[in-house]
Amino acid sequence: MVRPIIEIMDISLSKDEIKIEPASPAGDLIDVSPKSLRSQIKTLISDFISRPKPIKPTDAEIMNVFLALRVPEFAAVNKRIVDLDLEIRGTSPKNKTRLTRQLESAKARRLALIANAASSGDFLIFRSEKKAAFNETFIRYNEEAVTIGELKPFLGMTHLPAIQTRSLSAEIILAHLKEVKGSAAEKGDMILREGEEIHKRKQFFPRAALKNGISEYLLREGLNGVVRVPYSPFENFGVEAIALGAFERRGRVYFKLQGGKPVAQSHWNEIDRFLPFACRSISVPFLPVISNSPSGFSFKTVFGEATWDAISEEIMEKHAGSCVICGSDEKVSITPRWSYKEPVIGSSAPGVQELDSFLPFCANCMDTLRPSLDSLLVKSSDGLVLSTTREREGWLRTINRWNEPKEKAYVSDAYVMAIEMFRRRSRVNWIVDISKQTTVYLGLEDGFYVDDDDWVWPTVGSPFKIVGAPYFEGQNQSRIYIKPPKIHCVGWDSTVENVIEKLEASNLSVADKRGAGFVVDRAIDPIAPFSPDLEKQISAVTDSTFEEIEVNVEERPSSSTLSISENPNDSPPFIPDNSVQRELGSGMDDEYDDDDDDESAFRNAKPDYN
Ligand SMILES: [Zn+2]
Repeated sequence: MVRPIIEIMDISLSKDEIKIEPASPAGDLIDVSPKSLRSQIKTLISDFISRPKPIKPTDAEIMNVFLALRVPEFAAVNKRIVDLDLEIRGTSPKNKTRLTRQLESAKARRLALIANAASSGDFLIFRSEKKAAFNETFIRYNEEAVTIGELKPFLGMTHLPAIQTRSLSAEIILAHLKEVKGSAAEKGDMILREGEEIHKRKQFFPRAALKNGISEYLLREGLNGVVRVPYSPFENFGVEAIALGAFERRGRVYFKLQGGKPVAQSHWNEIDRFLPFACRSISVPFLPVISNSPSGFSFKTVFGEATWDAISEEIMEKHAGSCVICGSDEKVSITPRWSYKEPVIGSSAPGVQELDSFLPFCANCMDTLRPSLDSLLVKSSDGLVLSTTREREGWLRTINRWNEPKEKAYVSDAYVMAIEMFRRRSRVNWIVDISKQTTVYLGLEDGFYVDDDDWVWPTVGSPFKIVGAPYFEGQNQSRIYIKPPKIHCVGWDSTVENVIEKLEASNLSVADKRGAGFVVDRAIDPIAPFSPDLEKQISAVTDSTFEEIEVNVEERPSSSTLSISENPNDSPPFIPDNSVQRELGSGMDDEYDDDDDDESAFRNAKPDYN
């Protein structure tokens, strides 16, 4: 017999290559009639439904597996305990004392083995591997659930098409059906604009920092020759960072620095997801967002301080009390990150404000990235003008690495942009989707009134509608839950006129229970007139055309390091695509907390443009 030659092939497992999995690689095209297509869809759905959902192993279960596999003595001690127990039952009182002592010492030994295992590095790695493996299965299961979920409505179609295909997998069938259906909105979809492509403006374009290292100023300020990982050593990201060469000191995780770059067992760009944003090899600009949000919604005022404290505590623990932007632990507090889908130009429908995640910011980062409107505007004789502090400007430059003199103007551009966004969004009513907040009981504070169409009215200001999570209201604690609307996104420049053909099948708004739509009138534009100067500054930023950016080759990782395009999941993309990233991050409610919403925030390094 000839021994098989095992070849080690250097295959790059890019996402596309994994995805293409033809059922019959060399197979012929199969003609599928509408009738057999329908029965195939039914089979796929019932197969999926009959399969159990993967169950998250508890720490105790993982510990049991670990002890069984890695600590041979554990089984022996267990057996001894069982044996002694039996022996004690059938023995004389004299022997009993001796045997009981032995039993107690065996039990103590068992506890010691568990305690040793629990604090061992081996177990932490083992646990993190098990959790990662579960998460992978769970993600695959969820992806399948999404596909099956999308496939289901097609059963309701009276006329299914006949298709030609090489595979009858759910994905392939869905792709065929979607192609037939085209990209038209479905009836009842809310038509909204996808986010503005701010990152294409040259000042806000992501830049590589590999050449220059981490900002000297940032190092002097907070880090002292090390980078602090914004995770605790007790959860996945912290443990993984340690496995990559980070070290632990007093409950926190750090990477050492050399020449402005973190020292790890991988290249800098491969450990980006463990680092605070401002210390990553690729800097994705963080732009200020006015706080509170223009909808008038805030967790603290709407659901009360105790609720906000509970959410804060949970997030702080997850991030080991460190700022996700700069790694500092000075006066860290939590801020929500929202994404906004705005109404089509010319429509009076409300927009949808979606919770992405909660992020811990230190006092500097909070002041710089979440300024209040009042702190950015001062009155002058001819209207409001931009005014900001030197500290704030300096810090925005530092965390965004706008170090060149010509980049100084980016700071005021960023604040002008934030003001204009806030003004634009203040003229719209908002549906606030808080589906991502899943852990805390929500009760409406006194002073808010819910009308018959479920708009929540504050004492002063505009109403908003809360969707995606149940909340309780009033003295008799009635429960309110409104499903988030289904959204069909159109381009940023879309106007009522040019989406008119899509409107035939859908609404610019979604009918609520009284059929009145989501439309309510927003009585006042809450912002006083801007000065001609400020208006001019706003036009200069908002009217600037998008540019084709030439990336400086020098700034990119060398060919010896991983190329950015090869690893779309782990590296911040050069052209971030918010819609795709949002889909990746959704539907993972049951996943491990430490890999939850913030993981997608970290993995994708989505710029904070909202
Ligand atoms: Zn910070």
